[in-house]
Amino acid sequence: ARASAVADASGPGATRDGHRVPLLANIGGPQDVEAALAHGAEGVGLYRTEFLFLDRTEPPGDAEQEEAYRAVLEAFPEGKVVVRTLDAGADKPLAFLPPPSDEPNPALGERGLRMARRHPEILAAQLAALARASAGQGATLQVMAPMVTEAAEAARFAADCRAAGLDHPGVMVEVPAAALRARDLAGEVEFFSVGTNDLTQYAYAADRQVGGLAHLQDPWQPAVLDLVAMAADAGVPCGVCGEAAGDPVLACVLVGIGVTSLSMSAPSLPLVRAALARHSLEECREAAAAARAARSASGAHGAARASLPGLE
Ligand code: PEP
Ligand code: MG
Repeated sequence: ARASAVADASGPGATRDGHRVPLLANIGGPQDVEAALAHGAEGVGLYRTEFLFLDRTEPPGDAEQEEAYRAVLEAFPEGKVVVRTLDAGADKPLAFLPPPSDEPNPALGERGLRMARRHPEILAAQLAALARASAGQGATLQVMAPMVTEAAEAARFAADCRAAGLDHPGVMVEVPAAALRARDLAGEVEFFSVGTNDLTQYAYAADRQVGGLAHLQDPWQPAVLDLVAMAADAGVPCGVCGEAAGDPVLACVLVGIGVTSLSMSAPSLPLVRAALARHSLEECREAAAAARAARSASGAHGAARASLPGLE
């Protein structure tokens, strides 16, 4: 079954009845574009820009940033490319931007967009480089911020984007407060992208770097599914770019919840495309309802599998 699922996996993402779900790639830079294209990515749903900033004592120069962004945009002349601004701190420590040394809990500290309060020049340089890189490109550039928690942060980020000439600001929903108040955030930005890795970590107070808590750090947890539903119901397009999107069964459930695009590491794309193609939107909705009615992660997983026969 696995081989035939791969064989019929081509073309744009859609359910069996033709409900479109763009299937996008998570990348860390231009070096990942080839694999994304080879696996049929329709665009990039998460460009993790921190890799540009790793192993350095100073931020990359303006021209270097611009070049790295342009190379990715050029690879998808008819697609969209969602670039995430620098997500430094916690599980992504950067040498040139050490967090305040008195932070006892870096995952709850000045990470992600919060860093821009102390270092606004880094965000400004990144947005300017993105604006220059997107000039004259066919690809649609969307820029989003990580670790956004409240509407005021989303509003300020959107204003910064627009001031830089970037017209499609969005935010990641990866903190429970952002999901719970998704309607407030939706009033400020054009789209959401749910980061299920962090959303699960923060919903279950289970550090994603602590292996012993893997049973809690599970995106099948019903509370995570409920939080995703809140984001998906807020009135703006809502993708998922956490690891959950690359699980074929969970991908169907997310579509049933109302998620509008899925972004994953490139090798996961063919199986997710095949899983969607085998099920109607209504079947995905039924699987989502069955999963959310469960009382545990394993119960949700089992209920979804039973509801979507033919998937592992
Ligand atoms: C996430 O948190 O789910 C996510 C996609 O971002 P990262 O894994 O880079 O924190
Ligand atoms: Mg994250």
